[in-house]
Amino acid sequence: MLIKNNDTGLTSITLKSGIFPYQLEICLYIVDGILIDTGSANTLSKLKRVLNKEKISCAAITHVHEDHTGAASWIKRNLNIPVYLHNDSISEAAVKTSIPLYRRLVWGNRDGFDADPMPLFIETGRYRLDVIEAPGHHNNHMVFHEKKMGWLFTGDLYVSRRQLVAFKDENISDAINSIKNLLQLDFKTVFCGHSGIHHNGKEKLKAKLDYFLQIQEQVRYLEKTGLPHEDINRKLFPGKNLWTKISGREWSSLNIIKTI
Ligand SMILES: [Zn+2]
Repeated sequence: MLIKNNDTGLTSITLKSGIFPYQLEICLYIVDGILIDTGSANTLSKLKRVLNKEKISCAAITHVHEDHTGAASWIKRNLNIPVYLHNDSISEAAVKTSIPLYRRLVWGNRDGFDADPMPLFIETGRYRLDVIEAPGHHNNHMVFHEKKMGWLFTGDLYVSRRQLVAFKDENISDAINSIKNLLQLDFKTVFCGHSGIHHNGKEKLKAKLDYFLQIQEQVRYLEKTGLPHEDINRKLFPGKNLWTKISGREWSSLNIIKTI
């Protein structure tokens, strides 16, 4: 699905990646010619059709995960434009991924690509995106802020308010600090990499921070009683999570406990 706003020059693209039941949604944005994130290998053919019609001046990638870098190699080879990525992820991006089966079914392995070092800001005729480090979901995660419009492109930092599992690359303490830092900025609308556009984005991000802080307080209290992390996990997240099982524990609530 593609929604174009001719007044703002902002296009949002929603794509389904994978085959049912191994299917998840990806949201990409084009801001006056800047493509934010590039989808997965499994959404490449759909995205190619869009990109062949749109005028793109560069791509800016929030982080190196395979559901954000899928079309990067194709873009570099065919559109001859910069594909910006965090400096510390450039060497990882140069190598084709080799991901477990469950991620291959949903996202697919992406090809290696020569990324360009992320600048401090990206300017178009109309807008200026300030690039801000926001580790948490991934250590080299970045977000893009358009101050005049009150827009914040958050990649995978938000996704949902209540997070029940964390990926193995995630660090929730870092996410807490990043969200605190971002809440100091002027913005209203959050553009998420999976859950779309949130017009009350600042409130939602604040609610996510409150949720994390609540868990952090509980974990700190239980740690003082001498309870091991595994027992704290069973106490705070008693239900079995299907993703934890399918992912061979790459996603788990224990990772929230351990990193918070
Ligand atoms: Zn991610």
